[in-house]
Amino acid sequence: MLALGKLLELTLAGREPAEKTQLTVDGVRMRWLGEGALEVRAPEARDNGLDLLLSAGIHGNETAPIELLDRLLHDIARGDLKPRARILFLFGNPEAMRRGERFVEQDVNRLFNGRHQMSSGVEALRACELERLAASFFSLPQRERLHYDLHTAIRGSKIEQFALYPWKDGRQHSRRQLTRLRAAGMEAVLLQNKPSIVFSAYTYDQLGAESFTLELGKARPFGQNQGVNVERLEARLKHIIEGTEPAAEEDGLDGLKLFSVAREIIKHSDSFQLHLPADVENFSELDVGYLLADDIAQTRWVIEEQGARIIFPNPKVKNGLRAGILIVPATADGLA
Ligand SMILES: [Zn+2]
Repeated sequence: MLALGKLLELTLAGREPAEKTQLTVDGVRMRWLGEGALEVRAPEARDNGLDLLLSAGIHGNETAPIELLDRLLHDIARGDLKPRARILFLFGNPEAMRRGERFVEQDVNRLFNGRHQMSSGVEALRACELERLAASFFSLPQRERLHYDLHTAIRGSKIEQFALYPWKDGRQHSRRQLTRLRAAGMEAVLLQNKPSIVFSAYTYDQLGAESFTLELGKARPFGQNQGVNVERLEARLKHIIEGTEPAAEEDGLDGLKLFSVAREIIKHSDSFQLHLPADVENFSELDVGYLLADDIAQTRWVIEEQGARIIFPNPKVKNGLRAGILIVPATADGLA
């Protein structure tokens, strides 16, 4: 296998490859762009006009998606997978990956869309670099732009695999993309209705990509991901990479559950208290009238929405950041 196929090994070792560009047997060019960043380019005659950004390890301990990208890269470097798309592989937070931790000083996935400029340290620099790499990758005109940012969650989930679809004023969510996600094994999609500071929101908002954060199960250490089943996603990614997605795919959401954000729970102070068990699962339902949280100055978060569920509850976030998202069922009416 070509040395550049071992991007994960290079990244975990903190090494720079001797050769920055390599060609596979069938003319696919692999180019190392910096730590944890590799561009794959099909020979021009085979290129199908898709620019695909695949990122993982934005949270350093989320190993199942990192291993998935590693397998795809190995397949490409061996010539077993023959890309027709142009692809950028990104490992988001190399230093945290080396430590097996979610982050070193702060969460990279709260530093996009300009937030890194208000901060400092290794993660702020990395977020800036990831934006630059993505912007440069998505700078070619007249190409389809697609970004999947792959994650596993801190906690278990009543819905194991789901996607978050960013929002931009005046732009409609795409039914075709949802069909694609359903085929990739996603069971639910959260349609967002506000700007956000995560990586996929940056590429959606600033770079015009169709972008998604994908949650694939619970985070575990390297080699212990048997419980995270990424088979359907992996199969679909191979189809996307090789340009062999079924053409006459019926436009069916096929039971895909849609949700929208009702409210973001913001932690304002150290007195913030979240009234949920520490091991509560994502998508747990909450009854109307339930006191979800309280905070300084008699701030109370009481459930008012029918069918409300909680995702990403995390009372340990810094003050001013999101300590959970309240979601409610949504319909497919607003899709384009
Ligand atoms: Zn994550």
